[in-house]
Amino acid sequence: MELSLRIIFLGTGGSTPSVHRTLPSIAVRRGAELILFDCGEGTQRQMMFAKVGFCRKTKIFISHMHGDHILGMPGLFQTMSLLGRRHPLEIFGPKGICEFVDAVTETVEYNLIFSIEKKEVEEGLVYKGKEYEVLAVWADHGVPNLAYALVESERPGIFFPEKAEKLGVPRGKLWSRLQRGGTVELGSGRVVKSSEVTGPPRLGRKIVYSGDTGPCGAVERLALNADLLIHDCTLDDELVEKALEQGHSTPSQVASIARRAAVKKLILTHISPRYEETKILLEQARKTFPNVQVAEDLMEVEVPYA
Ligand SMILES: [Zn+2]
Ligand SMILES: [Zn+2]
Repeated sequence: MELSLRIIFLGTGGSTPSVHRTLPSIAVRRGAELILFDCGEGTQRQMMFAKVGFCRKTKIFISHMHGDHILGMPGLFQTMSLLGRRHPLEIFGPKGICEFVDAVTETVEYNLIFSIEKKEVEEGLVYKGKEYEVLAVWADHGVPNLAYALVESERPGIFFPEKAEKLGVPRGKLWSRLQRGGTVELGSGRVVKSSEVTGPPRLGRKIVYSGDTGPCGAVERLALNADLLIHDCTLDDELVEKALEQGHSTPSQVASIARRAAVKKLILTHISPRYEETKILLEQARKTFPNVQVAEDLMEVEVPYA
């Protein structure tokens, strides 16, 4: 099954919003589902511009409890409710996330018409579904910050119709069962396994989001062979001392991580409001890792199968 995996950078700034950038939130449209990484102030308005919808199946993964990454949630809850959301909203995040959501929902006069399923998570497997899983590691930011990897499950291999025909499997339902990895039994009693008529399983896609972090070995290991790494790049290389102090990264540091982790593509985000012009960030990163972009609000990137 070829599912679209589309990344929409809703908010790409850090610390405070600017006229050019909203606070951190990255939307992943995967088929009919919406996954948000972080939910900074202004996220819901950006969701309107990006037309991602408020009522679809949605999960939110929060990296850390700094205000610029979570303060979009209270407003988002209200809008979702007013727009008639029925699906539960799933929220994952580090310690403090449940207390925050409870405080908001208990004190704001909302009348929410959907349920919020919140879960405090740690390093390790955070979510496992049939089609993908989400893993997390602790990054390096002064407060507990989870970097997340969304890893799709393997897909069945390419189907060879001529092999199925040769084995006498009638076209139709039985073919699709074999395509999906199942086994079929023919009238003759002959059992045909999927592996007899398909190629080897194909890898799914992997995207990694660092949250806020200085250069960190755990994030680098998490990002190994990712199709896309989305990484904190708050300040440029000249301000490396300041970045280090604040638990953020600079372009050449992030580019080295991308190179060592052998990712296919790197996108820099959490850009300080001091940069109206981001050419300097791009140039510094490109020296080490050429396939790099600086995120802009509402930029969209499709992640193809390898
Ligand atoms: Zn931040
Ligand atoms: Zn932070």
